[in-house]
Amino acid sequence: MPEWEKNIRKVDPYVPGEQPQVSDVIKLNTNENPYPPSPAVIKALEEMKIEESYRKYPDPTAKSLKNTLAGYYGVDRDRIFIGSGSDDVLAIGFLTFFNSDQPVLFPDVTYSFYPVWAKVYGIPYEEIPLDEGFVINTDDYERGNCGGVVIANPNAPTGVAMDAKKVEKIIAANRDVIVVVDEAYADYSGVSVLPLIDKYDNLVVVRTFSKSRAMAGARIGFAIAGKRLIKAMEDVAQSINSYPISSTSLAAAVASVGDDKYFRDRIEDVIRTRARTVLELKRRGFSVLPSGTNFVFVTHAVKSAVDISDELRLRNIYVRHFSLPRIDNYLRITIGTDNQMNDLFAAIDEII
Ligand SMILES: *Cc1c(COP(=O)(O)O)cnc(C)c1O
Repeated sequence: MPEWEKNIRKVDPYVPGEQPQVSDVIKLNTNENPYPPSPAVIKALEEMKIEESYRKYPDPTAKSLKNTLAGYYGVDRDRIFIGSGSDDVLAIGFLTFFNSDQPVLFPDVTYSFYPVWAKVYGIPYEEIPLDEGFVINTDDYERGNCGGVVIANPNAPTGVAMDAKKVEKIIAANRDVIVVVDEAYADYSGVSVLPLIDKYDNLVVVRTFSKSRAMAGARIGFAIAGKRLIKAMEDVAQSINSYPISSTSLAAAVASVGDDKYFRDRIEDVIRTRARTVLELKRRGFSVLPSGTNFVFVTHAVKSAVDISDELRLRNIYVRHFSLPRIDNYLRITIGTDNQMNDLFAAIDEII
């Protein structure tokens, strides 16, 4: 072993869902939106003067997008932090807010990036078990003595949404530390703690353009919080990377927010297909957790999750399976178009 080996940081990285580089698959494994971004986004990109905008660095303050989001959510511009996907926003949040000797708390079954960030930054953490129905018991988060709290609401990969009052209990019980609420799927549940940001100076709400805005490839996420917290995140971010959002992504994001009707209509489409999917899967012997997201988390009464996933894959249908404690007999299935879901149901009929 070379001498330098001992100085190398060793991490177990997060493993994202597969991105097969072929087009004839039905991809229900990474919670992408089955619909394209708004036509306004395509138009904004077509109208961009790429020669100039790519020659220069993008606006490091992302002012255009901050102004747009400030108007949309009715908050001051200096209460918004913008990053390269909400993964970047969350990573900066971990680095900025979790500098205590006490453990940061999050559920045992949640977004599997949280423990990865905690480990790479050397942040102590504790995973609090969800109950048997994969629901958070808020009392577990009212114990004091912690370095912060991270909650995904709705949760992933379970899809379970907690009502805003319960999230508020957790925020209120932890006024001395920062509570990060990851609302990647909140547009599908309609539940958000954004209205609480004036009431609680320890609350950080994180959102993304990747799911409900169909812009995963553009890499845009943001946080909304009090000015002091946003300033702290900006200082940390500016110490790592000054230009996180490309000029094209900025223009596309502004255009997306400008077309609210398209945005809301596509959310309704997904929710309608989700309701149908739940019924069709239950009819085929699946238990389906209640979903406030654009995916369902399911387990089958007879056939194992791995077998179903493998056999779907042979039919070019990709769903997500996690080899993790408590959930290794579950599948996370993204809601696609009605046609894609029909193909899924037909494939399941063959398999089961
Ligand atoms: C998809 C997802 C994210 C991150 O998505 P980005 O593409 O980085 O914005 C964050 N949290 C949860 C729970 C997610 O499911």
